[in-house]
Amino acid sequence: MCIICNKEQYRPESHLRKRKKEQSVQCETFNAADLLKTTAPKMGDFQLLFKIDDIDLRAKEAKYHSSCYKIYTKGIKGVSDKGNLEECDSRDTDRYNGFCETIVVSKLIKANEVIRMDTLTIMFVSQ
Ligand SMILES: [Zn+2]
Repeated sequence: MCIICNKEQYRPESHLRKRKKEQSVQCETFNAADLLKTTAPKMGDFQLLFKIDDIDLRAKEAKYHSSCYKIYTKGIKGVSDKGNLEECDSRDTDRYNGFCETIVVSKLIKANEVIRMDTLTIMFVSQ
């Protein structure tokens, strides 16, 4: 199971007229794990972040599709080009941790509230 998309991914193989399941790769490098953890908040993906933040992705043998990983990590550029999330870099770790506790843990986990990812991102950026 891919930690990024939570799905099986299929690749169309036109010459065979059928779809082939994409193999997920194991998270083997610290850089890859770290990049996912820093990218998730920038992408506003608190679901993924909550899932991976406290765990050692390599030790847990986390897997993802290389295509998902590429799209995901490439997405940083797209987000920062818009300018509105540029401040969410590593300097904001404390702010981010506080945000996690107040919003993600108290609202999402305890109260079972459903908050859309884009709403979360706005809340995070504007707090
Ligand atoms: Zn995937």
